[in-house]
Amino acid sequence: MDDFFDKAKEGFQKTVETISKKSSEFVAITQCKSAITVATDNMAKNYEEIGRYIYEAYADGHEFDEFINNKSERIKELQEEIDELKEKLSEIKNIKECPTCGNDCNFEAVYCSKCGYRFYESHEEE
Ligand SMILES: [Zn+2]
Repeated sequence: MDDFFDKAKEGFQKTVETISKKSSEFVAITQCKSAITVATDNMAKNYEEIGRYIYEAYADGHEFDEFINNKSERIKELQEEIDELKEKLSEIKNIKECPTCGNDCNFEAVYCSKCGYRFYESHEEE
């Protein structure tokens, strides 16, 4: 673990050194801004991972406070909404997405043409 942090620190110091050695101030500004953007994106990704981790614990029945419970319920609702919309889109486009490889298959297909996944036969015509 210490090694990981040392390496991360080393990498950061190298980035700072590289930036400060550039001759033009404009280049340094641009590089600082771009490094800030990268770090900010990275931070957002880590926040999201924390959120997913907590949501999954919630979905597994772990007890949290009201804030987490409400947010988790909202995520659940949104996921259901997305699933319904995807289904509607599939019907309109006459395709269905393979749950294994994500390939767009004909709505009537029994097997995925890409990975061979066998769809449930519950998608019968009305
Ligand atoms: Zn597939």
